[in-house]
Amino acid sequence: MEKEKLVAFTFDDGPVEYSEESTAMKILRTLEKYGQRSTFFYIGEQMNEGNKKELEFAQKLGCEAANHTYTHCFLTKCTKEQVEEEFAKTTKLLEEYTGKTPTLGRIPYMEWNDMVLKAAGFPLIGCSVDSRDYAQIPTEEIIKRIMDAEANGELENAVVLLHEHYPTTARAVEYLIPALIEKGYRFVTVSELAEHNGITLKKGITYDKMQ
Ligand SMILES: [Zn+2]
Repeated sequence: MEKEKLVAFTFDDGPVEYSEESTAMKILRTLEKYGQRSTFFYIGEQMNEGNKKELEFAQKLGCEAANHTYTHCFLTKCTKEQVEEEFAKTTKLLEEYTGKTPTLGRIPYMEWNDMVLKAAGFPLIGCSVDSRDYAQIPTEEIIKRIMDAEANGELENAVVLLHEHYPTTARAVEYLIPALIEKGYRFVTVSELAEHNGITLKKGITYDKMQ
């Protein structure tokens, strides 16, 4: 058995829906099956009574609920007040839905400036491995990008960007989790990965990797 290596898979743009057929639930069932967890960056305006159970189920698995703004807009085109509101409204909803105050944010399209970083009021999580699942690439290519990162020594302590609403991603995750466990990986939340590496996440700073 190789030495344990940690990695944080992050899933953006949910919640979708609480149904065993939904891509999000397929991802969560895979995490459940292997006893692993991840961080989910949720969009406030997508949260509703219908998919509340998706978030609750993620919480039950020990997953982390984080803030991906309210409308998923280009924050660089917003005023400071609008940026504050984008995060504040979603924080309030996440508190309602999960009973916890989120401690991390992610900026839509990874586009920011100094105003955005300050107004967000969160440590902001980028990524060090980009699956490019949003580019409509096939499942095999998502798998290959992440396994290539592993082969190049870039996956340990990485923050991996994924999305919870693509069937290709859900299928890739079904393959990747057991394959990487086999290689000595454990899947943790971004906060756990930071803590494990002795990193104190600070508001207004962006982090791509936890090392
Ligand atoms: Zn997004």
